[in-house]
Amino acid sequence: MLLELSGLAAGYGPKTVVSGVSFALEPGQILAFLGHNGAGKTTTLRSIMGLLPLRAGEVRFDGQVLQRMSVADRVAMGLRLLPEGRGIFPDLSVAENIDVVAARNIGADAMFRVPDVYKLFPVLAERPGIRAGSLSGGQQQMLAMSLAILGKPRCLLLDEPSIGLAPNLVERMFQQVREVCKSHAMTAVLVEQNVAAAMKIADRVIIMNNGQIVFDGLPDEARASNFWHYF
Ligand code: ATP
Repeated sequence: MLLELSGLAAGYGPKTVVSGVSFALEPGQILAFLGHNGAGKTTTLRSIMGLLPLRAGEVRFDGQVLQRMSVADRVAMGLRLLPEGRGIFPDLSVAENIDVVAARNIGADAMFRVPDVYKLFPVLAERPGIRAGSLSGGQQQMLAMSLAILGKPRCLLLDEPSIGLAPNLVERMFQQVREVCKSHAMTAVLVEQNVAAAMKIADRVIIMNNGQIVFDGLPDEARASNFWHYF
């Protein structure tokens, strides 16, 4: 297993907002991590990344316990969080964003090179000189995703990547996420409000409600159950 959570609990101030969260993912597996607003999905991702301390439980990555590791150490191990609506340098151009990250990351073992990224998201190739901050929300997400994959992630935590993306682009972007996961054994945890699109690419579905897991199974099992009442 690459990413293993057991009995994770986390919260803010006096309030514990998620508890008993347990799952384990293999390399290349895609988890759709779903639930209504405030269910605790972002809190779980932030805890995995080390941005929020655990109140109970354990997170392991590649067999190593993460609790005492800094965020930087987790990044070095291959964990990446793509936070909702962030993750780019807004004042640099598209090409500068890509070049800065590529210069830092590309080695012999690179998953992707700069031309691969432009091939994956051709819309970025059309406007390399534009200020990243002036791209549409969806294009900023594509740029953020490009920067993340240039860094050779082994596990990508995606927080609502479809926000700001035109509906016809969502499926395309998600198919690309799936392709990257399957061709490079990259694991993904996909937090998404676009439940149908997320379930199409997922290998497994977890639904959170009030800070706890209320469903864990295959996409077909989720479709066959009455899971929609959690949204
Ligand atoms: P959303 O889609 O709205 O982000 P979510 O499932 O990701 O939903 P979280 O953002 O994890 O949910 O929020 C879980 C609970 O924690 C909510 O009740 C929220 O109000 C609370 N919460 C989130 N961030 C903070 C914070 N910084 N301080 C205090 N409470 C917070």
